[in-house]
Amino acid sequence: MCGITGYIGFREAYPVIINGLQRLEYRGYDSAGIMLYDGNQIQLAKTKGKVSNLVEIAKSDISTSGVVGIGHTRWATHGVPNDVNSHPHLSQSGNLVIVHNGIIENYDAIKKELITRGYTFKSDTDTEVLVNLIEEIKTKENVKLGKAVQIALNQVVGAYAIAVFDKEKPDEIVVAKLGSPIAIGVGKDFKEFFIASDASPFIEYTKDAIYLEDEEMAIIKKGREVNVRKIKSDKLVDSNIQELQLNLEQIEKGGYEHFMLKEIHEQPRAITDTFRGRLLRDEGIIKMAGVEDNMKKFLNANRIIIVACGTSWHAGLVAEYIFEEFARIPVEVEYASEFRYRNPVITEKDVVIAISQSGETADTLAAIKLAKKRGAFVFGVCNVVGSSIARETHAGAYTHAGPEIGVASTKAFTTQITVLSLMALRLARAKGTMSSSDYRMHLQELELIPRKVEQLLNVDGHVKEIAKEYLLSTNCLYLGRGYNFPVALEGALKLKEISYIHAEGYPAAEMKHGPIALIDDRMPVIVIATSKGHYEKVVSNIQEIKSRKGKIIAVVTEGDTTVKEIADHTIEIPEVEEAFSPLLTTIPLQLLSYHIAVMRNCNVDQPRNLAKSVTVE
Ligand code: GLU
Repeated sequence: MCGITGYIGFREAYPVIINGLQRLEYRGYDSAGIMLYDGNQIQLAKTKGKVSNLVEIAKSDISTSGVVGIGHTRWATHGVPNDVNSHPHLSQSGNLVIVHNGIIENYDAIKKELITRGYTFKSDTDTEVLVNLIEEIKTKENVKLGKAVQIALNQVVGAYAIAVFDKEKPDEIVVAKLGSPIAIGVGKDFKEFFIASDASPFIEYTKDAIYLEDEEMAIIKKGREVNVRKIKSDKLVDSNIQELQLNLEQIEKGGYEHFMLKEIHEQPRAITDTFRGRLLRDEGIIKMAGVEDNMKKFLNANRIIIVACGTSWHAGLVAEYIFEEFARIPVEVEYASEFRYRNPVITEKDVVIAISQSGETADTLAAIKLAKKRGAFVFGVCNVVGSSIARETHAGAYTHAGPEIGVASTKAFTTQITVLSLMALRLARAKGTMSSSDYRMHLQELELIPRKVEQLLNVDGHVKEIAKEYLLSTNCLYLGRGYNFPVALEGALKLKEISYIHAEGYPAAEMKHGPIALIDDRMPVIVIATSKGHYEKVVSNIQEIKSRKGKIIAVVTEGDTTVKEIADHTIEIPEVEEAFSPLLTTIPLQLLSYHIAVMRNCNVDQPRNLAKSVTVE
C-alpha cells in the first residue's frame, strides 16, 4: 500500500512532491496524483499509470505553483486503477483533500449512512468515504479540521496513513497513522515540513524526522513545533525528532538489505491485511463478498479445480488439503500450462479457482478463458487489483499483500494461503461440515497467525548460522507430509530460484521410492516435522536419513525433544493448528534460502533468467 508525499513551507511544492513520488515508485503502484494550493484554489491532477504521466497531465491541466500540497501513488485495494479512483480525493464541498494508504474496513456502512445525508460519491474507493466522513463531522460538530479527523478516525476500522488538507486552513496539513507508515521531515526552525511514507522523498532537504506511531496524529503548521497526539485519548505524546542515518537505498528497503528480506518480514502485516474486513472476530464470522454472492455455485460444485503456476501452484496444493478437510469438497490442483493444453473435462458443475500474484500470468489467464468457455464458474485469487485475471474471472478475492518487488515470492504465498483458508472455512460453515465450536476455534487460531509469524521471525539469526554450513551444497532435499508437503516444494523452489542450488521437494514417505539413493554425508535434507503432522512417521523418515549420514535440518514445533536428538539442526515454530502450519513452516525456509543466496553473492531480488510475472507462455 503505497506512497504519500506532502509539503508545506516556503518552496515551490510541486517539484518537491513530484520528485518525492518518483522516489516512492520503487514501492510499486498503479496510479498517481497531486494536489496543490495556489493561494486561491485547489489544483488537482491525477491519473492511472506512472508519475511521468502525471507530470504530462499536470503540465497542461493545472497551475503548478504553490507552497503547500500533497501527492500519492496508489496501489488499488477498493476500486480498479483508473483516473477517478486515483488519489487525492476531494470531499463533497471540494474544500477537503485527502491522500490515504491502507484500507478502511467499515467504509461500506459509513458510505450508506453518508448517502442518506445527501452525499454522493464519484469513486469506488474507501478513501472518498473517509474524506466525506471528516467533512460531515466538521460541519455537523462545527469543529476544526484536526478535531474532525480525530473524531472520524475513532469511527473507522482498518489501516491508514493519511494526509488531509483544508482549503479554509491552508497553512496546515493533518496527518495520522494506523498500520501504514508516515514520516514527517522537519525543516530548519520549523519553516517547512515534508510528509512521506518513508524518508526517501525528503532526505536531501532534512535529516530530522518524526515517525508517527500507530494511533497517532499530528497537525503540521508552518512555523510551529509538531504536536503529536493519540487519536483515541487525545493525549499529547513526545514528538521524538530522530536524526536519519540511512542512505536512500537503505530507506527504500526499509532498512533491510534486500526487498525479499523486507517482504519476508512484512508477512505478519500482510496476513493481517488479508483478514481485514473478512475475519470478523467479534461476530465470529467470515465475510467474503465474492464467496457470499456466489455461494450456490460453491455449494453445488462437484469439485473445485485450482489452476496456477509456480509458487501460486504450491499455495493451491495447500488449499487442496484445507478445502477437502474443512469443506469436504473434492479438489484438483493443476498447472495452468498443462490444463490449458490437455482438453480437460470441465462441466458447469465445476468451480475453477485461479491463483496468481500479479493477476497477469499468461498460462493462468488462458486456463481461465478455457474454463469459462466450457461453462465453469471461475473465481480469482490475486494480489493486483484490476489485473487481467481479476477482470477475466466471474468473482474473486484479493490477497491485499501489498506490492511484492522481490522476484522470489514470499508474502504473496502466505497471503494466498490465508485467503484460501478463509474461503474453506466459510464454505465449511455453509455446508455444515464443521461444527460451530470447531469453526470458532479455527477463526481464533487463524487470527493468531500474524503474531506467531512475528515471533517466528526471531529465528532469523539462527537460520543464518545454519545457512553458513550449507552454502556450498550442490543439492538439497526438502521433505514434508500432509499440509507441509507443498511447503517442502515451495522451500525447494525458493532455494533453486535465488541461490541456484539444485533442490527437490518430496512427500516425506516418497523418499523411499527414489530420492533416498541420493543421500550421503554431503546431502542436506530439510524436513518439516511438526508435532501434529504425522509426527511419528516423519521421525522414522528422519531416522532413515540419519542412517545414511544425511545432514538434517528439521523444522519442529516448540518443545520438541525427539527430533532434536537426531537432527543436526532444528528450527522451532510456535504451536499451531496443523492446517495453518504452512503459514509458519514456510517462514524459516524462506529465510534459509535467502541467507544461502546472500552468502553465495547471488542477486536475491532479481535472480538470473527469472521475471516477476510471467506474461508469456
Ligand atoms: N484503499 C485505498 C484505495 O484503494 C488506498 C490504496 C493505497 O494504499 O494506495 O484507493
